[in-house]
Amino acid sequence: MSEYLAILNAVLMNIRDAVVLTDGDRRPIRVNTAFETLTGHGADVLMDGFGEHAEASFQMLTRAMETADGGLWQGKLRCADGTDRLFDVTISAVNGHSAFPTHYLGLVRLASGEDARRFGHDELTGLPNRDIFLDRVDQSVLQVNRSGGTMALMMMGLDRFTLINDALGHGAGDRLLVEVARRLRQCVRETDTAVRLEGDKFALVTNIADVDDSVIVAEKVLRTVKEPFAIDGQEVVCTFSIGIAVYPQDASSVSGVIKQAENALHHAKVSGRNQYQFFSKEMNRKAKNRLDLEARMRRALINQEFVVFYQPKVQAETNRIVGAEALVRWMDPDNGMISPGEFIPIAEETGLIEQIGSWVLRRSCEENKAWQVKGLNPVKVSVNVSARQFRARSLLETVSGILAETGLDPRWLELEITESMLMNDVESAVSKMTAIREMGIGLSIDDFGTGYSSLSYLGRFPITTLKIDRAFIADVDTNPKTAEIARAIIGLSRGLNLEVVAEGAEVADHISFLRDNGCSTVQGYYYSRPVPADQFERMLTEGVLYHT
Ligand code: C2E
Ligand code: MG
Ligand code: MG
Repeated sequence: MSEYLAILNAVLMNIRDAVVLTDGDRRPIRVNTAFETLTGHGADVLMDGFGEHAEASFQMLTRAMETADGGLWQGKLRCADGTDRLFDVTISAVNGHSAFPTHYLGLVRLASGEDARRFGHDELTGLPNRDIFLDRVDQSVLQVNRSGGTMALMMMGLDRFTLINDALGHGAGDRLLVEVARRLRQCVRETDTAVRLEGDKFALVTNIADVDDSVIVAEKVLRTVKEPFAIDGQEVVCTFSIGIAVYPQDASSVSGVIKQAENALHHAKVSGRNQYQFFSKEMNRKAKNRLDLEARMRRALINQEFVVFYQPKVQAETNRIVGAEALVRWMDPDNGMISPGEFIPIAEETGLIEQIGSWVLRRSCEENKAWQVKGLNPVKVSVNVSARQFRARSLLETVSGILAETGLDPRWLELEITESMLMNDVESAVSKMTAIREMGIGLSIDDFGTGYSSLSYLGRFPITTLKIDRAFIADVDTNPKTAEIARAIIGLSRGLNLEVVAEGAEVADHISFLRDNGCSTVQGYYYSRPVPADQFERMLTEGVLYHT
């Protein structure tokens, strides 16, 4: 019998038809080599939830086997490359010795091209086709009409695709389109729809909160497609042109917005390709400003136009300076001082924040060390870490490198992070925070109370300090409810044995409230605005605060 099984197994693995075997409850238990060739999924698909696309595929496969009508099922299965393709599955019951089926055998075939088109899929790339596209645009427009927001429609064409096609042949051209489709799919969120309209023309339908978001998507698409492709052992470089129209700003109907996006695409092509163009001049100007700002920021890094200001943290009982927050400023030779609120968000989106952030960190460690070397009272300097910096793999290495270079004792450094940065992936956030704490560096939660974090996590985060957001401090003296929240946060930090710092204390009433309620460390305009390093050094030296 076992020899018989071995033979059956060898047959299964060697036949050229893709086959899936299920148990009596129609749960897939086995797939063969041909199935793997066809879908990219091997045994991984059977381990429910294993692998990036395997979970979806497993569910689809189970459904296919369960819902086969008269032994036939037609529908989409997710392949390992993330594409949904249309398959036919023919199912037969295997009864063995029992009266009821003990197993089911499913024969899996790619549906014919005709069927795939009817089903709304582009056969070559597996992306949705024009029919689905029109349907999605309709739905998006309805959604905007119902609940507001904006739909951005991007029409995208590969630049000089005919040249590539002629030079490398149609087969290679097709493979390039498949690769482009794959990259496109990686650029977009689950809720967006990327489609192939025809030939080298693709489109993206996306609902966005802010028109600026479409700039981010368009830049990402341009960047991703620009990377060289390896097609038949050759390196192929190609670029996209993108035209963007938004509903309802640019047009009041579905056909109108499609037409405007096509106009914008034309504009992008004639303006030199490898770029995006909005339909509206206003949007183009905004996008251009963003790009200018990014370029200027890169220059600012080279020309050392960034400076660190320090805002004292003061012990309210004694008026003694116990620390400072490092706050970056951009001294733009043309536009004067630019505040972080204006450039940090864009630095964050473009990735420049990693360089700017490391620079701020190095600079503030250097300056803090220099004050100590001069014999001034040592203080702890807090440095803001943005979400992207915190996520970066290199964070720990960067921080420990800077500490080693500057010779600053880690206990005089604190990193400020915000709640929202911790909630996506709590596990990895905790392990990163633990590593930071093990280096001897303090960890503070900035703007506490404004995020969405669940209090239950707070105990798990190895932090040292809570920083009450200035929104709560602003009206503690006038709004009893806010005062109650501030009191609760102070109590919470005491209970968790954390230091508590209030930010944004502007008037004497704030200070007395905080002092009376046990928050001893305070930062705010009442004591001092953020000041340049030399002024902060003077305050440290003379032990006085200059009220501003
Ligand atoms: P933040 O970390 O919450 O910093 C506190 C902000 O509150 C600072 O604004 C500070 O000047 C301001 N502030 C302090 N006391 C008072 C007060 O009494 N009243 C009022 N109305 N405001 C007060 P700033 O310097 O404009 O910084 C804004 C934000 O930019 C910071 O918020 C921080 O999130 C970010 N930021 C600043 N420097 C850096 C940096 O080097 N790296 C990163 N990633 N972000 C930074
Ligand atoms: Mg801060
Ligand atoms: Mg803050």
